[in-house]
Amino acid sequence: MTSLNPTMRVGDQIVESLIKHTGISRKEADQKAIEMLELVSVPQPEKRVRQYPHEFSGGMRQRVMIALAMVCDPQLLIADEPTTALDVTVQAQILDLMKDIQQKFGMSIIIITHDLGVVADVADRLVVMYAGQILEQGTTEEIFENPMHPYTRRLLGSVPRLDMSKDKPLNSIDGTPPDLYIPPKGCSFYDRCSDAMKICKDNLPEFIEHTDEHRSRCWLNHPMVIMKKDTKGGQA
Ligand code: SF4
Repeated sequence: MTSLNPTMRVGDQIVESLIKHTGISRKEADQKAIEMLELVSVPQPEKRVRQYPHEFSGGMRQRVMIALAMVCDPQLLIADEPTTALDVTVQAQILDLMKDIQQKFGMSIIIITHDLGVVADVADRLVVMYAGQILEQGTTEEIFENPMHPYTRRLLGSVPRLDMSKDKPLNSIDGTPPDLYIPPKGCSFYDRCSDAMKICKDNLPEFIEHTDEHRSRCWLNHPMVIMKKDTKGGQA
């Protein structure tokens, strides 16, 4: 939304990138800029390349950014919160566009997002991160159906659903993330976890493989702790 240079015409921004990275001529770059806007479904691309960012809506600016990111045929596109601040209709259009482009170019896309609806819609694989650490990863389907980490479960539980009672407050996760200037020794989710045990405070859990594709990092799933709970019924 704000990444485009407000003082430059949209076409010039695409052309600048092309000339800088591919060394093609100005004339070729002008033509390619029009083609790229067409690719991301910006109407009247010949006219739009000569306009400034303020003449575009939020969704159209997002399309221009995607065009700009695609001009050098990347194998990987990293999209950080690509639908933030867009209304839901435009958000759906942008996600459809990204899926389209991914298919057309046979490339990979990493989407960084807090929106689990976006994840469910577009991602094949999901990595759940907290305080700079991976806590769970696997296929999106597997994690949505069988979340193994308390943080993932709480995240999924905090998504409002239509069948929820209107009288109850929305679920949230109490507390705040740890201060990363003083990183925790043990599990980074310890202070906010209702399942926390003594072992979690000072010992970083290892990854436990649940299936070939699905793993999580939590002492609750560690065989040693499961065994201890089974035999003593107490906390590890
Ligand atoms: S390791 Fe412990 S504190 Fe961390 S998420 Fe698992 S149970 Fe909670």
